Amino acid sequence: MTLSIDTTVSLHETVAMPLLGLGVFQTEEGEEVENAVRWALDAGYRHIDTASLYRNERGVGRSVATAGIPRDEVFITTKVWNTEQGYESTKQSLRASLNRLGMDYVDLFLIHWPNDELTHDTWRAMEELQADGLTRAIGVSNFLQPHLEHLLAAASVTPSVNQVEFHPHNQEWDLVDFCRQHGIEYEAWSPLKRGRILSDETLADIAAAHAVTVAQVIIRWLLQEGVIVIPKSINRHRIAVNADVYGFELSGDETATIRSLDRRERIGPTPGSFF
Ligand code: NDP
Repeated sequence: MTLSIDTTVSLHETVAMPLLGLGVFQTEEGEEVENAVRWALDAGYRHIDTASLYRNERGVGRSVATAGIPRDEVFITTKVWNTEQGYESTKQSLRASLNRLGMDYVDLFLIHWPNDELTHDTWRAMEELQADGLTRAIGVSNFLQPHLEHLLAAASVTPSVNQVEFHPHNQEWDLVDFCRQHGIEYEAWSPLKRGRILSDETLADIAAAHAVTVAQVIIRWLLQEGVIVIPKSINRHRIAVNADVYGFELSGDETATIRSLDRRERIGPTPGSFF
């Protein structure tokens, strides 16, 4: 398959989700997030990843609304935060997010972190929110296999996505395989390890061979692996560079080399130890 910025994955064969998106964690509400989203849309992105936790949904919504792009051509993800989990509060959380976004629906609504005690109530609310058309797809984030098994035991709808920390220094292919066996798409957060992987010498050698940057190599690698990827930047040039990954291709050897860099080193909290 030839990859392009328009490449999508199909969530449960009904909803098309762009493989590349812009992450807006630690992007300030107001001008900062509005600019980042506008520059991303200008560069061809059609997928924005926010969360109630990020406190920038108003700016995301304003930027999308004024971009001159039909709402149904932009894929919006938001998430229910830990303190909002539970049946009624999850419903309130999405309604509040939609209010801030100024939208009638989001494309994907995720449980931000697992909490086995609340997962079944939270998920039942999410299934109903999807049935009511307030979100087109529902999924999870930071779920390891035991969290997924716990959810699946009571779920009517299988999650369409699991968004987890994933980059060359933290690869969890066993979890990817489990997700794929269940038709759950895998999505990488902190794909650039928040900048703390960009001086990796092996990646720098691969980047030099293609006359691109390490960030571009990582993003291209994830796309070739079929993993959804949402790099964050507030810098216009870096937003464009991160989407300029369709003019080169990594070889099988290069892909294998990147896979060999795994050292299970996280930049964020370990799922299950955080809530
Ligand atoms: P990333 O791995 O995307 O790294 C972002 C950092 O890298 C920023 O400091 C950015 O700086 C810098 N950067 C971006 N592009 C480049 C480039 N081309 N060259 C050099 N530096 C660059 O980290 P995030 O943690 O933000 O993860 C991405 C997204 O994943 C988040 O924004 C969020 O949407 C999601 N996420 C989800 C989580 C979850 O629990 N579900 C947890 C964490 C993140 P600058 O902005 O100055 O360009």
